Amino acid sequence: MKNNVKNKLIITVATTGAWPTKNETPYVPLQPKEIAEEIYACWKAGAAMAHIHARDDDDKASMNFENFQETVERVRATDSDIILNLTTSGGIGFNDEERMKPFSELLPEMASYDCGTMNWAHSTIFENRPEFLEKLGLKMQEVNVKPEIEVFDAGMVYNALYYLKKGVLKAPLHFQFCLGVPGGTAATVENLIHLKSLIPENSTWSTFGVGKGAVPIMLAAVALGGHIRVGMEDNIYLRKGVLAKSNVEFIEQVKKIAFEASREIATPTEAREIFNLENKV
Ligand code: ZN
Repeated sequence: MKNNVKNKLIITVATTGAWPTKNETPYVPLQPKEIAEEIYACWKAGAAMAHIHARDDDDKASMNFENFQETVERVRATDSDIILNLTTSGGIGFNDEERMKPFSELLPEMASYDCGTMNWAHSTIFENRPEFLEKLGLKMQEVNVKPEIEVFDAGMVYNALYYLKKGVLKAPLHFQFCLGVPGGTAATVENLIHLKSLIPENSTWSTFGVGKGAVPIMLAAVALGGHIRVGMEDNIYLRKGVLAKSNVEFIEQVKKIAFEASREIATPTEAREIFNLENKV
C-alpha cells in the first residue's frame, strides 16, 4: 500500500447506537429511513464506514432483523459506497442468535466484536461470554465479515490476542478503542497510548471518547496515526452544552482537526485497502 493511502484517516460514523432517545436529542436518527438518510449525508461529508444499530418500532434498543435489513437495503440502494459495519450487541440482553443474524444474512463488510464482558454503566452486565466470542469469530470467518474488535479495557485486547492465537480471529486485526463508557476505561490520552501499545504491529485501530474526553481523544488519534469514530451513539453534544444537529457536524469537526495536522480523509475505497477488506478471509 502506498504511504499516502496508509496515512489517511478513516472516519466511521455511528449515527444511532442503543441509547439516545428523541427526548435527549431530537436530532438522533432512530428508524431505518432516517438512519439511512443520515448515513448517506455522512458519506457525502466524508465518512468511509457506518456502524449501524437498529431500534424497535418504539425506538428502543433492538436486534430487530427487519429494521437492520431495511436500513442496509436503503443505503445499498443509493450511489454511496460506504462500508457497512453492523453491531452484534445492539444493547443488553439479546440472545446469541439475535445478535448474529443481521451480519450473517445481510453480509456487511464488517461487524462489531465486543471482546469481553463488563459491568455497563454500573447498572447492568454487558455480556460477551467466551463461548459466544468463539462462535461469533468463527461465524464471521465463515461468512467473510471482518470483526471490528471493540475494546473497553485492556483485558479485552488480551482476549483478542488469545482468540488470534486460537484461530478464532485472523490477522490483520482491526480494533475500536471505546473510551469513557461508565464501567470501562476512561477517555484519556494516556489510556489510548497504553491500549495502542498492546496490539499487534500490523493491526489497524480507531477510537472515540464519550463525554469530555471526546475531542482530546480525536486530537490524539490524529496525532498517533489512528482512525476516528464519531456520532450520536457515543456523543450527542458537539461541544459543552451544544447539541449536534446532525451526525454530519461531527464529521466536519474531525475534518477540521485532521486538516490542521495534514492528514487526508480516506475514501471508502482507500479505507478498504487500509482495513485489508479486499483480501479478508
Ligand atoms: Zn454500536
